[in-house]
Amino acid sequence: MSTPTHDHVAALRMRDPAVAAARDRLLADGRLSQEDGVRLFDAPVLELGRLADAVARDRHGDRVYFTVNRQLNPTNVCVLACRFCDYAKKPGAEGAYTMTREQIEAHVEPGITEIHIVGGLHNRWRFDDYLDVIRWAKAKKPSLSVKAYTAVEIDFFCRLTRQPAEWVLARLREAGLDALPGGGAEVFSERVRREIFRQKIGAQRWLEIHEIAHRMGIPSNATLLYGHIETRAERVQHMILLRELEDRAPGFFAFIPLAFQPGVTGLVRRQASAIEDLKTIAISRLVLDNFAHVKSYWIMLGQDTASAAISFGASDLDGTIGQEKIAHAALARSPVGMAEAGMLHMIREAGKRAVQRDALYRVVREYGRDGAPLDGAGGPLEAAGAAQS
Ligand code: SF4
Repeated sequence: MSTPTHDHVAALRMRDPAVAAARDRLLADGRLSQEDGVRLFDAPVLELGRLADAVARDRHGDRVYFTVNRQLNPTNVCVLACRFCDYAKKPGAEGAYTMTREQIEAHVEPGITEIHIVGGLHNRWRFDDYLDVIRWAKAKKPSLSVKAYTAVEIDFFCRLTRQPAEWVLARLREAGLDALPGGGAEVFSERVRREIFRQKIGAQRWLEIHEIAHRMGIPSNATLLYGHIETRAERVQHMILLRELEDRAPGFFAFIPLAFQPGVTGLVRRQASAIEDLKTIAISRLVLDNFAHVKSYWIMLGQDTASAAISFGASDLDGTIGQEKIAHAALARSPVGMAEAGMLHMIREAGKRAVQRDALYRVVREYGRDGAPLDGAGGPLEAAGAAQS
């Protein structure tokens, strides 16, 4: 990734004093502080969006990345019971499932380049069972990039095997793991952890596992679950802790703000507003100056807000996903999967150019402003009106 310029940021004239101060700070190669980040939440959303979009353009031009992937959630059986989770089931409970090898292999469809594997902490599975999921996926398609298991799952494997994270990660890599997903971070606040996920690892352990992975050459992503009981200050604090980790041990590809789906948790009555979503995306683009990408995760944002987020600093749309189960167990209103043509359509509508990537951000195919592949191959955009699979 080339060093970002400041051309687009320098060309902006901001009206709001807080956004203007943020622009000046970024132009001087300074960093936004915790206080700056919190203050920006009170700024006009369109001003924030203009600045965040300029930052994204200085990094990526008009390119927006996506992947053709499948999400694989091999089991929803989980020994924990986080208050915000509508996905997990106790062993034997109605709706509990554990996939067979055939079901797992069926997720490895011929056209995908990435598989994203996360699930529950099964009471009966051994570490080898989790390794098998990766081995089977990789055996079906050796060129597949495997992004698997959150820091919460890695910590669980450490306790299962009584081995340190370095050992667990090395075994996963031998099985075929290429990168870690960013899940399980929730929000780095001990107050929130005690309230809604007290059995789960906290900030320190999550950051430690990602730091170990990065030092071993295993890249990762980072998420933030927002829109429940956390404060805006806790959101910004979360971003700053991630920024510090990326300074110490680089290895993050993307930051992924996840809009909390209230489902039947009873924690909040409704999902964060689209304005709050767009402000969170824009502010994360401004604070996380050492992250390559901020992702617009359409599964949780919904297609309309995800599409708008492309003009508010997001430079990645995640992927086509297929049969997503976790957010949809919490009654997410987005479709369960999207055709490649739908991704291209969203990016073209935002006035940007699509780049298909794999889990390691290697370019698979670039598209022009008109949505046609630059390599001249026949693309799926002709069918772009049919956005959902
Ligand atoms: S959030 Fe993860 S660890 Fe917590 S109950 Fe749900 S599946 Fe289990």
